[in-house]
Amino acid sequence: MSYLFKENRPDVTVSVQDDDTREGAAVEYRHPAIFDEVHQEPVDLLPNMSVDVNGILKDGFVRLVDFMPRMRPTGTTLDYAIVQAARVSYGAGTKTHRDDVGLIRHLLRNKHTSPFEMVELKFHVKMPIFVARQWVRHRTASINEYSGRYSEMPDECYIPEEWRGQGKNNRQGSEGVVEYEPSQSYEDPSLPLHLIEQANAEGVAFQEYKTRLEAGVSRELARTCLPLSTFTEWYWKIDLHNLMHFLRLRLDSHAQEEIRVYGCAIDAIISKLFPSTHSAFRDFIVESMTLSRLEIDALKGVEVEFPTKGEAAAWEEKKKLLGI
Ligand SMILES: Cc1cc2nc3c(=O)[nH]c(=O)nc-3n(C[C@H](O)[C@H](O)[C@H](O)COP(=O)(O)OP(=O)(O)OC[C@H]3O[C@@H](n4cnc5c(N)ncnc54)[C@H](O)[C@@H]3O)c2cc1C
Repeated sequence: MSYLFKENRPDVTVSVQDDDTREGAAVEYRHPAIFDEVHQEPVDLLPNMSVDVNGILKDGFVRLVDFMPRMRPTGTTLDYAIVQAARVSYGAGTKTHRDDVGLIRHLLRNKHTSPFEMVELKFHVKMPIFVARQWVRHRTASINEYSGRYSEMPDECYIPEEWRGQGKNNRQGSEGVVEYEPSQSYEDPSLPLHLIEQANAEGVAFQEYKTRLEAGVSRELARTCLPLSTFTEWYWKIDLHNLMHFLRLRLDSHAQEEIRVYGCAIDAIISKLFPSTHSAFRDFIVESMTLSRLEIDALKGVEVEFPTKGEAAAWEEKKKLLGI
C-alpha cells in the first residue's frame, strides 16, 4: 500500500457538524490524495486506544493523552505520517524505489529528521521532582506542570527499594547496594497514621509541610521543606524527532536508572504506535555507535594513544560491545 504525492493535490477539507449538546457531532476528514487512493476510510485512533504505563517508581506513570496524527487509514500504522511527509520532498519521481519501511530506515540512517517532526505526542507524566529536573533539560518540548503554589502537594514520595552505592569509577553513577541506617528513628507515635507508614525523613518533611499549611503559611513557601523525591505531574508535548533524541540520551546506561525507567515506558509506547520507525531507531540510534578517528585507527590495528582516560574507557566499552 502506498500513499503517493500527487502533483495536483486537492485541498484538505475539514468540516464539523455540531449541535448544542455535541451529541452525534461528526467530524469529516478527507484528504483525497491519500485516502481515495487506498479506498479506505480514515480511522480516529484515540477513542479506542489506551496507552498508559502505570506503577513506574510505584506511584508514577506515563499516559499518552493525544497525538498527531490521530487519523490514519485502516490497516496502517502511524508510521504512514512520516512517509507521507517525506514523499513531499522526494516527489513522484522516486516513488517506486523505496517502500515505506525502506524510506523510514533511509531517513533515520541519513539523519534526515524533519519528517519525524511531523508527528507530535502529548503525554501526562507523574515523576519525582529529581527526575523532572533532569527531564526538563530537554528544551525542545512544551510543558505544563502541577502548581505547588496553587494546589497542595500530595504526600507521595519515591522511596527506593534499595540504596544503590556511589559509583567508584563513574562519579555521576551508582553501583552495588549499600545497607543504610537512618541517622535517627522516625518512629514518632505523634505522626499522623498515613505518615507513620512512611516512617522516614520524607514523612517528617510532609508533616512539617502540613503544620505550616495549618498555620496559614502560603503553599508557595510551605513547600520549601519538601524533598526532591516528592512526585510532581506535567503534560509534556514533543515531536517524534526530539522524542527520539530524548530517548537516546535517557535510555543510555549512563543515565540515572530512575529516569531510564520512564524512557523505557515511552520507548514501549513508541514501539506500538510507530513500529517501523521504532525498529529503525533501535538499529541506527540506540543500539548503534559512532567511532572517532582514533577508534577507527585502533580498529585497523594501528597503535593508538588516547589523549584522555575517558576516551580510553569509552573505547574499552565499545570494544566489549563489538566483541573484540
Ligand atoms: C547521562 C547524562 C548526564 C548529564 N549530566 C549533566 C550534568 O552533570 N550537568 C548538567 O547541567 N546537565 C547534565 N546533563 C544534561 C545534558 O547536558 C543536556 O542538557 C540534556 O541531556 C539535554 O540535551 P540536549 O540539549 O541535547 O536536548 P534538548 O534540549 O532537547 O535539545 C535538543 C537539541 O536541540 C538543539 N538545541 C536546543 N536548544 C538549543 C540552544 N539553545 N542552542 C543551540 N542548540 C539547541 C541541540 O542540538 C540539542 O541537542 C546530562 C545528561 C545526560 C543524558
